[in-house]
Amino acid sequence: MSQFIRVIVDRSIRRELDYAVPEPLRDRIAIGSRVRVPFRDRSLLATVVATLAESPAKGIKPIAELLGDKPVVSPRLIELARWMATYYCCPIETVMRSLLPQVIRKAEVGWKKQLFVRLTKLPAIEELEKLRRRAPRQAELLEAIVQLPEAIPAADLLRQTALDNAALRALVRRGFIELHEQAVERDPHAGEQFIADAEYALNEEQTAALKLIETALASPQTHPPILLHGVTGSGKTEIYLQAIRATLARGKTAIVLVPEISLTPQTVERFKNRFAAAPDMVAVLHSHLSEGERHDEWHKLHSGRAKIVIGARSAIFAPLEDLGLIVVDEEHETSYKQEEAPRYHARDVAVVRAKLEKCAVLLGSATPSLESYYNAARGKYVLSTLTQRVDQCQMPLIRIVDLRQERRKEKSAAILSEKLRSAIETRLTRKEQTILFLNRRGFSTSLLCSNCGKARDCPNCSVALTFHRTNARLSCHLCGHSAAVPKRCPECGENALIYAGFGTEKVEENVATLFPKAVVRRMDADSMTRKEAYRDTLHAFRSGKIDILVGTQMIAKGLHFPNVTLVGIINADLALHLPDFRAGERTFQLLTQVAGRAGRGEAPGEVFVQTYTPFSPSIQFARHHDYAGYFEQELEFREQCKFPPTTHAVLITARSEHETHASFSAETLARRLRENLPNEYSISDPAPAPLEKLQGQYRFHILVRGEAIVRLSRLLRQTLDKLPFPEDVTVAEDVDPYQLL
Ligand code: ADP
Ligand code: ZN
Repeated sequence: MSQFIRVIVDRSIRRELDYAVPEPLRDRIAIGSRVRVPFRDRSLLATVVATLAESPAKGIKPIAELLGDKPVVSPRLIELARWMATYYCCPIETVMRSLLPQVIRKAEVGWKKQLFVRLTKLPAIEELEKLRRRAPRQAELLEAIVQLPEAIPAADLLRQTALDNAALRALVRRGFIELHEQAVERDPHAGEQFIADAEYALNEEQTAALKLIETALASPQTHPPILLHGVTGSGKTEIYLQAIRATLARGKTAIVLVPEISLTPQTVERFKNRFAAAPDMVAVLHSHLSEGERHDEWHKLHSGRAKIVIGARSAIFAPLEDLGLIVVDEEHETSYKQEEAPRYHARDVAVVRAKLEKCAVLLGSATPSLESYYNAARGKYVLSTLTQRVDQCQMPLIRIVDLRQERRKEKSAAILSEKLRSAIETRLTRKEQTILFLNRRGFSTSLLCSNCGKARDCPNCSVALTFHRTNARLSCHLCGHSAAVPKRCPECGENALIYAGFGTEKVEENVATLFPKAVVRRMDADSMTRKEAYRDTLHAFRSGKIDILVGTQMIAKGLHFPNVTLVGIINADLALHLPDFRAGERTFQLLTQVAGRAGRGEAPGEVFVQTYTPFSPSIQFARHHDYAGYFEQELEFREQCKFPPTTHAVLITARSEHETHASFSAETLARRLRENLPNEYSISDPAPAPLEKLQGQYRFHILVRGEAIVRLSRLLRQTLDKLPFPEDVTVAEDVDPYQLL
């Protein structure tokens, strides 16, 4: 019973506000309740963060409205939000907003209501006879309703009986039935059958891993996070499933984070199947749900009916009580990092939430991030390793194709080297499948003028436009700008335009020409715009209707196709040359992950890696499946150059549509930081970002590095808050940045 509350409103005003609670609401309001409050001349949505017996505020106003009948944010999630605001140097309001899906926060979408039919009186025989003669359709409908064991939606009834609304309304008027509205759940997996499957008997390594997790479940307060390093196909997912079963057995709940891109129907199915005995046990949260579905899945968790959530990044904030276990699958995936404020990393937030909730946390990967492996090496995490594939399959044989030599041989560089071509040929005759991987969409990556040498660049971004043949247009992959293909060079007027570079569209075409009898399909963001396209293509591939699948990273992750015995990596150098200290790590991860797609069945797999830099360490270590070796040499490089994980970094970006404003602001800020930060922090000179112009904005970077990150975040905040920037300049701080372009 509190007279006053303290709230955080949904806008960044950087201040918490007190309000009075009208008498009738006092016993229904609590920490985590959502309210509507008057603020200046507006009304704002807000979250209650404290209840107070008295308030020091003057002229206190009452709240306008209490939303919902239960708090929606737990006190521990509010605590987590406060940690995030401090660590990520970000307003608490911004963090609070991201805790709740928009549909819950705005409370605009409610339950879906449907009309249900219920029998009110059983018709007497004579009544039914009479009805049959006078209105046979009504009689037919009434007889159908009499047979029903329970009320059903009117729409379903009419569909089943092929009768119309008029007959239904007439029966209402005659007093035989009544219609009433009832809430129904929108289940994104309605209509699918989930069959409870059995657990596998774990092998030795798996058993040891599960045992470790069980220890953590038993004493979560003291147990460090577990890093499960298991090669692809070593049965990590099976361990997650059994660990969750052990969690449920303790009366606890579990969160499973999966990168959005791996959150395929196949993945969801594995979890839904395993826990199919209890309906509604597993809820799913990801970006492809409709607002209504997200609303219902969220409430399934909030009400406690669902005890497991499987979801992408933001599912780390799922409203589960009694958390026992958080699993972060593919913990190295950079998509766990949110690239807008709050710029949090879901894996790191998972570790902190686990600490606050006193639950176990399990990070799994075939290629752990340097950050996590470093934490394991230092004893902050416990390492558990799976070195064997469960199916006893050999690791695939990785062959490096030196494109420099190929080029000498064939003069004009072919997309597929001779070796890769003949390997595909063999697969086709053996009726085995091939995956070709290229991390670049489109047909040609640039349109160049052979006379003046100019490329067609995006007017808003400093990148070349990509030519897409499907719609015969040029498009920017960063801002979406789209342009017609000019007939002549707009710079010099010559009729000398040539297409250069290639993307997945061209690979698809090239492969189809080389192997006219093969069925070739492409899977990338362009070909998969429909929700079902992804599912259909995967299904066709799994059932053997497709011989060669060409795609981007969409096909690199977590998919399991026993009949794939060949994987071709068209160009392994794409990531290597990015100006990013993690470029090598990403290449190593990508090669290992893609290679993991080959040979998961009976036949051994083969991987061809086409590259111009065959001796780069990321390629060589990946070739020998040597993670530990890679880690050691990469860590040495990071240590020498003072890059994460051996230190922390914060990337500050000043951007504006006026180049001089952005650069001047960055200069001023760097100067001020040098005055305000202690010497232990290193501050780079402001420099144009590698991608200098993005979406019409010029961007300048400052990289600050140092070990005490929370202190750094605080000092940054103080400095930034005191600096007046021109109105058109935006300054963003990215703590532990993953996007350095
Ligand atoms: P990962 O997640 O490490 O890539 P999965 O858990 O997907 O590996 O396992 C690969 C395949 O092996 C799956 O089809 C899985 O059902 C199966 N599997 C896992 N553990 C066992 C086991 N102990 N015995 C037999 N098959 C298993
Ligand atoms: Zn652009």
